[in-house]
Amino acid sequence: MSKVIIIGAGGVGSVVAHKCAQNPEVFSEIVIASRTRRKCDLLAKAIEEAATRDGRKLPVISTDSVDADSVEQLCELFRRHKPEIVINVALPYQDLTIMDACLECGVNYLDTANYEPRDVAHFEYSWQWAYRERFEKAGLTAILGCGFDPGVSGVFTAYAAKHYFSAMETLDIVDCNAGNHGKAFATNFNPEINIREITQNGRYWLNGEWVTTKPLEIHAELNYPNIGPRDSYLLYHEELESLVQNFPTIKRARFWMTFGQEYLTHLRVIQDIGMARIDEIEYNGQKIVPLQFLKAVLPDPQDLGENYTGETSIGCRIAGKGKNGENLTYYIYNNCSHEEAYKETGMQAVSYTTGVPAMIGAMMFLTGKWNKTGVHNVEEFDPDPFMEQLSVQGLPWHEIVNADLEVDKIS
Ligand code: NDP
Repeated sequence: MSKVIIIGAGGVGSVVAHKCAQNPEVFSEIVIASRTRRKCDLLAKAIEEAATRDGRKLPVISTDSVDADSVEQLCELFRRHKPEIVINVALPYQDLTIMDACLECGVNYLDTANYEPRDVAHFEYSWQWAYRERFEKAGLTAILGCGFDPGVSGVFTAYAAKHYFSAMETLDIVDCNAGNHGKAFATNFNPEINIREITQNGRYWLNGEWVTTKPLEIHAELNYPNIGPRDSYLLYHEELESLVQNFPTIKRARFWMTFGQEYLTHLRVIQDIGMARIDEIEYNGQKIVPLQFLKAVLPDPQDLGENYTGETSIGCRIAGKGKNGENLTYYIYNNCSHEEAYKETGMQAVSYTTGVPAMIGAMMFLTGKWNKTGVHNVEEFDPDPFMEQLSVQGLPWHEIVNADLEVDKIS
């Protein structure tokens, strides 16, 4: 029986809160805190209505407000509520302030995206790994990157290493969204963070080194289960950094994401006209960041769910040597329906596939299944109890052994 604080009440925060509330035997008290308290109150109301509709028992739910850029405000929040763990589903900019407050107040930590400074679109784990010793000394646990990708992608890889491979040699994480939200252009999670990620140079791991590509330079058609062929683009994604360290037999590691032509055309125009800029400009005597202004006029990812059709398919395609030294290929994936996610939580599948694993990660910690102190990426823990819960909590997974992974044909 444990108390959790969820920071952030956006698309992902909404799913985390719904899913924690569905597991009252683990999460006996839930505090939803964000910058805009009204959103937390609306979310708490929606959770109560869902529980009444389904005839479910609810944990104690309360709401609060916090500016998570301020360690002082975070500490006041933590001292008021005394949680065991904080689930950080605000923005990557807040990771370090929340970790600082956790150390000051003795609270455990979990997030779904690694720290990014506001003024450079650059993500790497070094800033958060620098907290390892302090968390260890304080006897606290920080679980990094516990959404779907990063998150389940790391757990899938750890599961493959544990049960199938003696040496994994290539890893391709493949992320397909074959959904349709009916809007001309919208991003599926926070637009600012999403556009910063996609417009960066690509990067992949090859024979012990990072190879850099121009943004979206490499692409190939890949087939996704129950979906079919989709143009997939090589991006840099943060989990590659920890996975190649934690599984050093991997010689090549890449990340692929699907984009439609319509999306890419809009993205190109946004960049060409300067709206993806993240530096401050002067407008009417006021300083604004173009990308932040763009976020304010784009559809809110939280509001996309209602008419969203289709599904996502995210997985890992791995090749290497099996337990007996034989050549082996392995594909493990989950498909998630936007409509089903919306029916259950009021959010689309991208928020759902991120929020469910974040809840499960907190559950793993609170039930003592993931109990290492220090700062850890998800693949450093035992994947088995997490995998069990994925199926129970709405993200069933499937495996295909020794099929053509398609990824070796791409040069
Ligand atoms: P949203 O923009 O929908 O929600 C962000 C929430 O954080 C909002 O409620 C916002 O408040 C709140 N917030 C922002 N700044 C602060 C602050 N300074 N103090 C307190 N609250 C703040 O984003 P998403 O829900 O789409 O994404 C949440 C996180 O999940 C992001 O970090 C994203 O990168 C990550 N993510 C991870 C994925 C994975 O698979 N690992 C996939 C998708 C997302 P307000 O309402 O006031 O703006």
